[in-house]
Amino acid sequence: MPGPDYLNIVCKIDTSLKALELLDLCQHIEDKQHRVRGVHWGSRTIDLDILLYGGEIHKSERLTVPHPEMINRSFALLPLAEIEPSLELPSFGSLKMCLEQLELSDIEKI
Ligand code: ATP
Ligand code: MG
Ligand code: MG
Repeated sequence: MPGPDYLNIVCKIDTSLKALELLDLCQHIEDKQHRVRGVHWGSRTIDLDILLYGGEIHKSERLTVPHPEMINRSFALLPLAEIEPSLELPSFGSLKMCLEQLELSDIEKI
């Protein structure tokens, strides 16, 4: 869906939270930023997604990790590669190979 430009950031954190607790926290922060949950992929003030949780695989109604769309998103994989260039993604294989499949000209590094 076309929309306004969007700033994307990937960060790596250490946490004692379990995966679902981390999702709760992300959604709490989204709510605090006055995000109105509704239109999927609609414009939003903030979207906090969990791309990876260590090397673990999670599949439940509320949480799928690795994020199923991450390998299709240059705006997720490129910043991820800046912090973890040699990463092996659970289910998807090497980050480098995933990046080779993607068109990178649709994003701009700031
Ligand atoms: P996309 O998932 O394609 O990036 P989105 O981020 O816009 O879309 P949201 O509206 O933010 O989608 O979230 C919809 C639901 O996705 C959330 O309520 C959450 O339970 C679920 N979800 C499943 N896996 C994840 C994940 N890895 N990170 C964040 N949310 C997830
Ligand atoms: Mg998202
Ligand atoms: Mg989201």
